[in-house]
Amino acid sequence: MSVLKGFKQKEQRYIINTYNRNPEKTLLLVEGEGAVVRDEEGREYLDFLGGLAVTALGHCHPRVTAAIREQAGKLVHTSNLYYTLPQTELAELLVENSCGDKVFFANSGAEVNEAAIKLARKYAQTVLGEKRYEIITAYRSFHGRTLATLTATGQEKFRRGFDPLPEGFVYATFNDLDSFAAAVTEKTCAIMVEVVQAEGGVYVAEQEFLRGLRRLCDEQGLLLIFDEVQCGMGRTGRLWAYEHYGVEPDIFTVAKALANGLPIGAMVAKNKAAEGFGPGDHASTFGGNPVASAAAVATLQTIFEDNLLAHVQERGQQILQGYERLRQSFPGLIKEYRGRGLIIGLEFTKEIAPQVQQGLVEEGFLVN
Ligand code: PLP
Repeated sequence: MSVLKGFKQKEQRYIINTYNRNPEKTLLLVEGEGAVVRDEEGREYLDFLGGLAVTALGHCHPRVTAAIREQAGKLVHTSNLYYTLPQTELAELLVENSCGDKVFFANSGAEVNEAAIKLARKYAQTVLGEKRYEIITAYRSFHGRTLATLTATGQEKFRRGFDPLPEGFVYATFNDLDSFAAAVTEKTCAIMVEVVQAEGGVYVAEQEFLRGLRRLCDEQGLLLIFDEVQCGMGRTGRLWAYEHYGVEPDIFTVAKALANGLPIGAMVAKNKAAEGFGPGDHASTFGGNPVASAAAVATLQTIFEDNLLAHVQERGQQILQGYERLRQSFPGLIKEYRGRGLIIGLEFTKEIAPQVQQGLVEEGFLVN
């Protein structure tokens, strides 16, 4: 029996089937370097998937790997009852390079969105002294898989079968300010949107929409939360996608590419909103773990020092030009391409995305 066949049998025997991996077609990846990953037979793939928006600097970036090695040899974990150097350094970098004032660390996108939801409710109840708890999110959004974040997610398919879901989420239409304004009630405490809807199909927020949401929140005393879990960390060509708009959120969340592959998430809040939480209100055993934080510090420093934001803009333009050539070469096949920087989606006129994806794997390219 080949190594791979034995491995696939074990995988099917021991792992719960939540990822719909086709045993005949999925790959066993064993190493990566830069934009390339290799399977167990040494076959190389150019990785446009980036671990689902995670390995922004490429695989095993030497500076990140060195930071992980160094920190792992010093201190892997303490607890959030004590200070650690990497966590504080990371908080400083996030605050000094964003509109936020304070950070809460967790381990994933869902967890930091959960933290943002809790903070918005607590802020309304403790700071404003009002029993407001409802959060308006967008149809087609994706905010995570915990019970609260999947309820925040404006796509019914993710919620099916998990009743009863937590109360307090309503949905409005992305890029439609009137739809959001109409959803505000005396129970609303916040509006939460992705600046670029990623999982929902790559839809970029319009300037007037985000500006309008800011105005609406200011008029109604609501918090504005941006989920930058997928579109943050330079993916759009600015460190935070909201920077393209001249609009600042009260809270934003980041995860995925933050540590270029180690699990970490951060909720960044302005002082006003951060006041909603006090000691004991929220916690995470591993949140802001020293090794993950050291990797995140190295990731951010690399983005700044290697001038990667300009690089993202250039490569993004190159891909868009390529898509335009494709559209012209295959008339009637490509409906639209959308995106900003390196978060780009291609929509076909027919249901052929799975075949295209599989064809690309066979040619040595990984895409989502
Ligand atoms: N928010 C957005 C915008 C996402 O794209 C995702 C994941 O795809 C999440 C939240 C959830 O992140 P995680 O899988 O790290 O919990």
